[in-house]
Amino acid sequence: MLPSYVPALPDGTESGKYVAIDLSGKNLRILLLTLNGASKEDVSVVNNYIIPNIIMKGTGEQLFTFIVNCLQKFLKEFNLEEANLPIGFVFSYPCELLSIRSARLLWWTKGFDIQDCLQKDVVELLQDALELNMSTKAKIKAVMNDTVGQLAAAAHKYGSDCVIGVVIGYGCNSAYLEETAKIKKFNAKAASYNHDKMVVVTEWEEFGNKGELNDILTPFDLEIDDASVHKGKQIIDKLTGALYLGDLVRRILAQFVLDGELFGGTHVEKLDFSDTFPTKYISEILSEDVESFKIARRICDELEVSVHGTNDYKIIREVCHTVSQRAASIVAAAICALLRHMGRQSVKIGVGGALIQFHPTFHTLLETQLIQMAPLDVEWELVPVDEGSVKGAALIAAVAEKLGI
Ligand code: BGC
Repeated sequence: MLPSYVPALPDGTESGKYVAIDLSGKNLRILLLTLNGASKEDVSVVNNYIIPNIIMKGTGEQLFTFIVNCLQKFLKEFNLEEANLPIGFVFSYPCELLSIRSARLLWWTKGFDIQDCLQKDVVELLQDALELNMSTKAKIKAVMNDTVGQLAAAAHKYGSDCVIGVVIGYGCNSAYLEETAKIKKFNAKAASYNHDKMVVVTEWEEFGNKGELNDILTPFDLEIDDASVHKGKQIIDKLTGALYLGDLVRRILAQFVLDGELFGGTHVEKLDFSDTFPTKYISEILSEDVESFKIARRICDELEVSVHGTNDYKIIREVCHTVSQRAASIVAAAICALLRHMGRQSVKIGVGGALIQFHPTFHTLLETQLIQMAPLDVEWELVPVDEGSVKGAALIAAVAEKLGI
């Protein structure tokens, strides 16, 4: 668990213009949020910029210059280049946070591999790039994990009972509001932190690093772990995240072929390569009516396989469902652990990320598992917010501004 240094969630009274920069994977998202206080008539505009592969594996200077160039272009559209706007920066990689504006990168995930950023403060790197650019006046007000943004956006929308935020995107993680006095590893006095509460990032994706999940790992999970850039780390991500689920299905299908159960046992070359079965295929296949195989047929065409009857489509569908169901069960178990730890009677759980937003059955699977597992004395509700992490980051910038921190 990591302290976030975020002392409060938005309460709806925030107003003004705020910017958020969200670097949560291949997509860089930049948002402008205009808050109108109690009237709740907030306006947000978000733009997506695809980060070129060469930058994801290049240098820190290239990455941060790219981000600032995108920001400049974005703000220019609204004639806000010169405005002194507060920025909330979402940086969802394992970091050590030293204040609300300081995050030291421990290691990269989600396809990034920029060695010269390791152990450096990413806020300083971004602020330096902003200053070098000179034409943009915006200033970083807060840096945070995407789960903190998700929690803030959900609390803003659903009220003060919303004290847990969960992101099930490329990876999976959560944040919750804790009483400062209960955070054992945090010395508030030494850190001159004088707020009663603080958002804690659970980093539950790292559960399993000491072998705790070995009993449930399949040979396919071990292959995925072996092939990853951080073997042995972030095991929960590898069982639940959108970055991995498609690849998991691909490996299982390849085994079915080897066993002679699928495509008449004829070798499928494309299934030998990662990235040939993206997670969006799972969403597409599960969005189709059980009697219809139009989408499954299209995907099989894309995989260049010769299908031997509708049973093949049914197997593919079942594998997609099973992999999704297992992911939902694991996330539900993690949420239950948090509910037990918090011991509150009534909790709203703000959920977001690609699997909530785009996977057609994930939300229901998660809810069904929670009904079975959640402590009976807790009243809970899953509340979704799309684009939550980026909206919430702008909201946290507003909270920081309001509290003068
Ligand atoms: C990252 C977390 C992040 C989660 C959801 C994980 O891979 O380590 O920091 O919150 O993905 O995006």
